[in-house]
Amino acid sequence: MEQATKKFASSEPIKVSDSDAGFPHKVAKIAGTDLNACLTCLSCSGGCPMYQYMDYGPHGIMRLVVLGLKREALTSNTIWRCLGCHTCAAVCPMAINIASVMDYLRQECLAEKLPVGDKPLWEFYRSMLNTARRHGRVAKLELMVEHKIRTMGLGPKAWFQDVLLGQTMMLKHKLHLLPSRLMSSGRAAVRKILDAGPWATY
Ligand code: SF4
Ligand code: SF4
Repeated sequence: MEQATKKFASSEPIKVSDSDAGFPHKVAKIAGTDLNACLTCLSCSGGCPMYQYMDYGPHGIMRLVVLGLKREALTSNTIWRCLGCHTCAAVCPMAINIASVMDYLRQECLAEKLPVGDKPLWEFYRSMLNTARRHGRVAKLELMVEHKIRTMGLGPKAWFQDVLLGQTMMLKHKLHLLPSRLMSSGRAAVRKILDAGPWATY
């Protein structure tokens, strides 16, 4: 809880004039869930396995959306660090589908070309989608190599930190040199779906 409390208590005030009144309705409609029912009880953040790594946490994102603070919600790292595990929805007394809200906010962040709240994580997403686009499914070794190249700026420590893990995975046949691919019709179908999303032009 500490990190989100710190963020909300930051010296930078959140201005009501930044509020977009139509945003909560749009999110509720597309994500198919009623955000006005949120009680701000914090149960979702209490159960979230990623909460300690998030700036706002799921309950904070719900608040930002309800208040129409679109830019603040779309540029937070919370929406990218969400695993989509649905633990929050399982513990929410109002059965709010938080993971689907997070999904929509990620798409909207890219569609509006706003800065992503966690750049290395976004590069990981992008590398994963690239391998899926090439092969119709994720190719793990390619994903690791492409991600390392994309995040080269993080320095040699980040580059080599997974080498031992990669070797172990290869020895256990969890990582293969050649990717397993779908047939060409399957690859074309996956490519069509991915190309329709905002990530392709971000
Ligand atoms: S658990 Fe549900 S009601 Fe409680 S803060 Fe989270 S979204 Fe809102
Ligand atoms: S779906 Fe996301 S926000 Fe909800 S508990 Fe899992 S990681 Fe946390």
